[in-house]
Amino acid sequence: MAQWHNWSGRLQHKPQQLTHVYSENQAAALALASSKAGQSLRAVGGGHSHQDLVGNNDVIVDTLGLSGVISHDQAANTAWVWGGSRIFSLGNALHQVGLALPNQGDIDQQSISGATATGTHGTGAKLQNLSSRVVGARLALADGSLIDCSAVENSELWQASRLHLGAFGIITRLQLALNPSFCLVEKTWQTPLSTLLQELDSYIADNRHCEFFWYPRTDTAQVKVINATTEPAQYPLKGEGQRHGWSYEVLPNHRPHKHTEMEYSVPAESGISCMTEIQKLLADKFTDVKWPVEYRTLAQDDVWLSTAYQRPTVTISVHQGIDEPDEAYYRACEEIFLAHGGKPHWGKVNYLNGQQMADLHPRWSDWWRVRDSIDPTGTFLNPYMHSIRP
Ligand SMILES: Cc1cc2nc3c(=O)[nH]c(=O)nc-3n(C[C@H](O)[C@H](O)[C@H](O)COP(=O)(O)OP(=O)(O)OC[C@H]3O[C@@H](n4cnc5c(N)ncnc54)[C@H](O)[C@@H]3O)c2cc1C
Repeated sequence: MAQWHNWSGRLQHKPQQLTHVYSENQAAALALASSKAGQSLRAVGGGHSHQDLVGNNDVIVDTLGLSGVISHDQAANTAWVWGGSRIFSLGNALHQVGLALPNQGDIDQQSISGATATGTHGTGAKLQNLSSRVVGARLALADGSLIDCSAVENSELWQASRLHLGAFGIITRLQLALNPSFCLVEKTWQTPLSTLLQELDSYIADNRHCEFFWYPRTDTAQVKVINATTEPAQYPLKGEGQRHGWSYEVLPNHRPHKHTEMEYSVPAESGISCMTEIQKLLADKFTDVKWPVEYRTLAQDDVWLSTAYQRPTVTISVHQGIDEPDEAYYRACEEIFLAHGGKPHWGKVNYLNGQQMADLHPRWSDWWRVRDSIDPTGTFLNPYMHSIRP
């Protein structure tokens, strides 16, 4: 029997079929066959989600065979890319045609469709998440057809599926809004958290990217700022924190230690007070936790299920080792996040039900209406999606 597990190993499944696709026609045929057989079908990209978005007992389809840049328009700063492309594989390929993602997350191991499925983001008060970069898409639907969508064609489908949770169809290709290639230079330093929190607003305002990790059981924060430069890349690249190179060379990091993670987005103005309460929680009740707390910023957008929908945002992430107890810690953090108006990252751990999701996302019922209209029998739902559906 086939076996699948996510990056951390925390989520494990034995689907009846674990398969691959290498073409759009193959994706469409698989969607139709699964639908006719009454099976659940979920695509997988890099398998880096901590939430059980992929798992089901029927069919899991690996999309990494649909990979690479298809075409580009340098004047418009856009490119079509295959939906299964890993982000690391796009960096240099886009750079060869003078283009780059405006921002990336902490790592570049995700597929582009997996990353846009969950609103994956980096840090930067003026920079939006990856879902907001989607200006066009092609999907293989449960009826065996391929459908295109954009702001001018099937526009509701485009609006809903920019952050898609894998629930609309197999994304075979995406059109992305990009920047001309650019170089970045990064800088890190350590400082007491109490000092940093007093100066944080100016670091966030003065730098293209700003983030910090705070290490519980210490007062030490590791701050990182990254800025654009017109100076050419310096090779060989130095280590993390001192790199000066093209954006795709500087933004991603190596994160080999297996962990789980909860992340919430809170309104930007509540970031520091929320962080201070998380710090107090750790000092008072979870003194064994060694894993850092990460603080980032995210610009507002208009993506229906985005955690930054219509509000400037701060994201705060808490982590725990894969073999260490996490639920009591995460539930206590979740209470604090919710009290600060937080919305959970779609790809990370949370304990919310469908009603709570509906209360947090003003376009929740619209998103489901559009989803249900193209997949009425629920081929692209899995147990987790059923657990939160209205
Ligand atoms: C070490 C680590 C670091 C991380 N860093 C960040 C970070 O900096 N910022 C951040 O925001 N998040 C971060 N994440 C979370 C991660 O970016 C998200 O969970 C992302 O969704 C994972 O992408 P993936 O390709 O692995 O998708 P998967 O986990 O494989 O899938 C995610 C969803 O996408 C769907 N999907 C994938 N491909 C397709 C397709 N072709 N068609 C239709 N549906 C599809 C799946 O069905 C599923 O619903 C990190 C996770 C880890 C483990």
